[in-house]
Amino acid sequence: IKWTEGRGWHDAELVPYAPLSIDPANMTLHYAQTIFEGMKAYRQPDGTVATFRPEANAERFQASARRMAMPELPAELFIEACDALIRQDSAWVPSSGEASLYLRPFMFATEVGLGVRPANEFLFMVIASPAGAYFAGGVKPVSVWLSEEYVRAVKGGTGAAKTGGNYAASLVAQAQAASHGCDQVVWLDAVEHRWIEEMGGMNLYFVYGDRIVTPELTGSLLPGITRDSLLTIARDLGYTAEEGRISTEDWQRDNENGTLTEVFACGTAAVITPVGSVKSEKASWTQGDGEPGEVTMKLRKALLDLQTGHRADTHGWMHPLG
Ligand code: PMP
Repeated sequence: IKWTEGRGWHDAELVPYAPLSIDPANMTLHYAQTIFEGMKAYRQPDGTVATFRPEANAERFQASARRMAMPELPAELFIEACDALIRQDSAWVPSSGEASLYLRPFMFATEVGLGVRPANEFLFMVIASPAGAYFAGGVKPVSVWLSEEYVRAVKGGTGAAKTGGNYAASLVAQAQAASHGCDQVVWLDAVEHRWIEEMGGMNLYFVYGDRIVTPELTGSLLPGITRDSLLTIARDLGYTAEEGRISTEDWQRDNENGTLTEVFACGTAAVITPVGSVKSEKASWTQGDGEPGEVTMKLRKALLDLQTGHRADTHGWMHPLG
């Protein structure tokens, strides 16, 4: 779907997947007005297909657009575009277990010009790819690197938007994590380098017995839809679920004294991933006994059961395509 200043959204079309041709002076290549979303369609027990909370993705896409001085795509158009792509060939949606069809809606500037200003022409597209179960051989805890050198986002910056630049800025820290033998980066706040924010592509939860806590939305972390869903699902399961502030010292101390029983990360791609070990310049420790915890696995099952139609959708989160 195209957007042009004065004309608005127009010319929605379904076309075969193919490379795009881009002018060297395309404004996106220079000034990075790009935003995207990630969501999944799951096969339901009766053979139909449903997406999980597409309205929430549509809303976050609008919030990202406002922050990046881009036009807002109406939620109905966002959802209809995703539905139309899935319907084109719903055999794409895997038929079993945790496998899904991953959808990637995105928007970028198509105007040609070298002046630094918001572009006047944009293109919104959706592409899709089947995604297997994230953990092929059973759920495996990840190791994380607490990044004290780099920050992902600052107050007033673009941290709460899903824009390409945030990910570009994170790659060097991800490489640093890998060089320390860790799977993922954990980002800290930009002022004190102390408060836990989120991971490279996932939000975090800290489990204190039957109370789970996730870092509050400070404006510099992404408001994850999985994070938000788990606040509700955890309460449905009888846990106390809250937003709060957790520092690196809290994490290490509470793990040592045994009050912090589990830590997990959550996001559309991996659903829920246990955190098994933590490293920073100053310290390294095993989280709990390094194995997936009971609360983590219960929440993971509840969320996946809901998404795959094996648990009642009491919050109206599933969007059936019929
Ligand atoms: N944080 C970041 C930086 C992410 O890229 C993602 C993935 N979209 C998340 C958190 C998790 O968000 P969601 O649950 O909506 O996938």
